[in-house]
Amino acid sequence: KETNTRQRLPIIPQGIEKDIFIRALEKLAEQLGKDNVEVNDKPLVDGWYMEHPNTHDMMPILDDEELVASAVVYPSSTEEVQKIVLWANEYSVPIFPISMGRNLGYGGAAPRVRGSVVIDLGKRMSKILDINPDDYTCLVEPGVSFYALHEAIQAKGFAHMWIDIPDLGGGSVIGNTLDRGVGYTPYGDHWACHSGLEVVLPTGEVIRTGMGALPGNNTWQTFPYGFGPYSDGLFSQSNFGIVTKMGMTLMPNPGGHESFMYAFEKEEDLEPLMEIIRPLRIGNILENVAQVRHAIQTIAVKGLPRTKYFSGDGPIPEHVFREQLKKMPIGDHTWLYYGMSYGPPHIRQYKLEIIDKEFKKIPGARKIDPEILPEDEYFWSRDRIAAGVPDLVELLWVNWVPNGAHVAFSPVSPIRGVDAMKLFNLGKRRHDEFGIDFLPAFCVGLREMHLIVEIVYDKNDPAKRKAANDCLREMIDDAAKEGYGEYRTHLVLMDQVADTYNWNDNALMKFNEKLKDALDPNGIMAPGKSGIWPKRYRGRGWEM
Ligand code: ADP
Repeated sequence: KETNTRQRLPIIPQGIEKDIFIRALEKLAEQLGKDNVEVNDKPLVDGWYMEHPNTHDMMPILDDEELVASAVVYPSSTEEVQKIVLWANEYSVPIFPISMGRNLGYGGAAPRVRGSVVIDLGKRMSKILDINPDDYTCLVEPGVSFYALHEAIQAKGFAHMWIDIPDLGGGSVIGNTLDRGVGYTPYGDHWACHSGLEVVLPTGEVIRTGMGALPGNNTWQTFPYGFGPYSDGLFSQSNFGIVTKMGMTLMPNPGGHESFMYAFEKEEDLEPLMEIIRPLRIGNILENVAQVRHAIQTIAVKGLPRTKYFSGDGPIPEHVFREQLKKMPIGDHTWLYYGMSYGPPHIRQYKLEIIDKEFKKIPGARKIDPEILPEDEYFWSRDRIAAGVPDLVELLWVNWVPNGAHVAFSPVSPIRGVDAMKLFNLGKRRHDEFGIDFLPAFCVGLREMHLIVEIVYDKNDPAKRKAANDCLREMIDDAAKEGYGEYRTHLVLMDQVADTYNWNDNALMKFNEKLKDALDPNGIMAPGKSGIWPKRYRGRGWEM
């Protein structure tokens, strides 16, 4: 948002005296260089996806001033990250690491605790340290984006290797993987595909996980486990360390690929469709994290404002979007399945015939011929993404409302018809209640699916922000009552989501807190991230 142009006062993290904090920043600048310690006293400018801020969330759900950094620092090496961590311990300053901060919909670059010092790792630590064409692996620093990795592999002429990318390619490979983001090739589970981390612990020590702990090894990127407890999990969706290097496996070029799309007529078709998808997906006939998207998304992703179709308040009535669909090349439908088949033609044909036979068991199911789809049709964006080519088209639907921002509700369920319908109805009911357009998509993993509902709202309108927040909070509680939990969430909702994982008197959170206290005794590392609060913050009103 470009409206907030006033000069801002320096923000001081709670519990520290202003003079001490200013002096501490000066001390840090002596170590990192003046240019690499930037005080956040300038106007908050939101920019856009590719020119995003690193001081705050460009898609706020709370007041602008809530989740903002006091300063941003730019380390250039693991050693400098260590220096920052030791400095934070000395002065009890909360720090918050980001790789690139393009985690939009989940908090962007914002820290959970106002006034934290954001460590922007991506700016100066953006080297691709290795691309291994024999092992199909790479080793990257936090500032390596999916675009950069893709380009580097192309530039080296390694046509035999693909990367996997999420919906938007501008984010960091490390940032997305640590937040357990997903992509759409058979290597779509990024966390499962990584191998080996280098981590700076909250007390300043550096460890390498897996085979990386064995000096002289050449298997850090090929065998993720090493020996002893598998510690990598502690560093994803957590606040137990700063990852400075990560190994990632790369996919072999499958020797051909073919996107396909099916349209299903009725809302109720979702139920039998899921029953058909499950065995095909587990059996790997459906090979990628495919999407089942609601028809309203076909319209929203065109990138035009909703007022083009409907000028009233509240959700767009069904008859209105159906009228639009009839004018589009795909025609009227309720669900679209976007999939990709990999391999040479005869291999694809074998799988595609099975899929066709199974999908057409649903009355009215149609396979859409890609030949009829214009170049700017969303199908081609999904085609690129499922072939590992980074893309930005998915951003278009933020134009749905003025000053569009988005935030996701993403519960996990088995791939079952009853669960799909339950979650669909739950989301629909709450969206209707809060007057929000319901934009659901199911992403089918291997044995589970995530329902992804993006609420698109006007970030400059406090009432719309509140409606989005309230709607999400209700849906999280509704889903938890039915046994569904989120796979990932926005900073603002982390306490609530963490609290739904409360089996056996919150045993898991108690375990996380025990780890937090042992690993981060001064409680400096990303306090509150994933609902994990260090001792000195706990029970003092920080949770929300
Ligand atoms: P991206 O730009 O890839 O979308 P971010 O850099 O915003 O992702 O990272 C997403 C979240 O993951 C951040 O909010 C942060 O909490 C965590 N994170 C990112 N990079 C690191 C890292 N190198 N070490 C520890 N945590 C990280």
